[in-house]
Amino acid sequence: MQYAFVDGSKVEARKGLKGICIGCGNEMIPKCGESKLHHWAHRVLTKCDSWWERETIWHREWKDQFPESYREISFYDEIMQEYHRADVHTPEGLTIEFQNSSLSIAELQSREAFYQKLIWVINGLKFKGFSLGKSIPDPKSAILKEYELSGGSHVVYTRKSERLFPPRLKDKFTLEHPAFNHIQASNIHYSFDWKHAHKAWLQSNLPVFIDLGGHFLYWLKKREQASGEFFYLQMVSKLTFINRYHKHPI
Ligand SMILES: [Zn+2]
Repeated sequence: MQYAFVDGSKVEARKGLKGICIGCGNEMIPKCGESKLHHWAHRVLTKCDSWWERETIWHREWKDQFPESYREISFYDEIMQEYHRADVHTPEGLTIEFQNSSLSIAELQSREAFYQKLIWVINGLKFKGFSLGKSIPDPKSAILKEYELSGGSHVVYTRKSERLFPPRLKDKFTLEHPAFNHIQASNIHYSFDWKHAHKAWLQSNLPVFIDLGGHFLYWLKKREQASGEFFYLQMVSKLTFINRYHKHPI
């Protein structure tokens, strides 16, 4: 953990300090080695927060974008009878979790049920078989109302009226087709390929933002269609994202 209570205040780990866990109240000792992030650890292994994952520089850099008073906020879980620490919890009651490893669908659902107002930021640099495709028109724009979208990074547009025809009779369009001359790709919507997709993220009904490094996040979006869901990404600058939830520091 980045913080523990020392004499009643939230303090970062420093050699020689003794802390108290913000969650369970047990004794914490500072770990301040050369190679690892300075952090606090429980002196004795306790059932504290089973959801907590080993903190990386990636986590720490994200949390550091938010006021200290928003970081590592503990909540008691009556059902699991343990404390959970939100990575970031804003005064408006919104939790932001930075997740490095994949979750099972059951894990995802229990966290989403617990926090309710939750946003996920996930580390996409760890995904296998993931690649960003081309920019595409906004899949929810009126201009595509008559089409169903499919495919991974190479999006195929099929007219809804032809959806029930045998495959060889269907007109399948790509953006390069002359019929699409009047349709512009947007600058912020992208297709993607994800060969070994983490199913839990695709099933989440809460906002999921993928961090691929660089200055942007990619918001995982879906379009409900008669032929099945179509997933795509909406680019958001990290600065916009951070400023959006950073407005009212205490
Ligand atoms: Zn604890």
